[in-house]
Amino acid sequence: MNHDLINDFKNAKTVAIITGAGISAESGIPTFRGDQGLWKNFRAEDLATPDAFRRNPEMVWEWYDWRRGKCAAAEPNAAHVVLAEMENYFDDFLIITQNVDGLHRRAGSKNIIEIHGSIWKARCTQCGNVFASEVTPLAEIPLKCQDCGGLARPDIVWFGESYDMGLLDRAFSFLSQSDLVLIIGTSGMVNMPLYLARHALDGNAVLVEINPEETSMSSMMHYTLRDSAALIMPELWQKIRNI
Ligand code: NAD
Ligand code: ZN
Repeated sequence: MNHDLINDFKNAKTVAIITGAGISAESGIPTFRGDQGLWKNFRAEDLATPDAFRRNPEMVWEWYDWRRGKCAAAEPNAAHVVLAEMENYFDDFLIITQNVDGLHRRAGSKNIIEIHGSIWKARCTQCGNVFASEVTPLAEIPLKCQDCGGLARPDIVWFGESYDMGLLDRAFSFLSQSDLVLIIGTSGMVNMPLYLARHALDGNAVLVEINPEETSMSSMMHYTLRDSAALIMPELWQKIRNI
């Protein structure tokens, strides 16, 4: 591993991490792009949309319950665990994740922004109430609001929906002050990580990518590490701490 990369980590005080589905792949949670991510031959793009939910809330909830089952059966992997340890090492540390699986929190990370929401939360389409829903399989489908009995939906940002601007503002302002940003397991096919990375670059952050494949963000990076996150993160962490 490159000596300058390790030094950049050692000198960094404010560190941001951007994670995508790839970091959870080795925990057994499929990404949307791989074959494993298919459910009954539907693509995620045809299920994770307001239209699909309007047409068939039962089907969308069945798909989410299938995914919740996979998330519940999965354990955080070495990459999640290293990130939880890193939080105590750097002065300021924030994980900005596109993942909805809850594995960062289960690994022990505290400072997390889930920009796409959480598979463990639901939101009422009638009264707007957001509530935890952590049992899978669900007792009834579709899920109903605990307050008013209205139809509930996953508290997730679907394709074509807008982001929570409050959360994004926090992410962007942290990135503009970051010394180093590590981008793990995201393809950048959803454009937000690209904007986030560019914003950090404008603020003079060092950018590092961990991904076995080249992505739409690779050309922006100061360093690219082409292997799986669960392999690279422990090695990187050992070098940063001189072990
Ligand atoms: P993506 O599926 O578009 O891309 C995954 C990326 O991870 C790819 O670039 C791939 O090369 C890389 N990758 C695969 N295995 C890896 C590994 N072992 N280590 C490091 N990188 C690896 O994922 P995305 O960019 O996060 O976007 C997909 C969308 O789907 C997001 O909005 C996300 O909310 C959602 N999603 C979430 C989960 C989850 O919560 N675990 C799972 C699937 C999809
Ligand atoms: Zn309600």
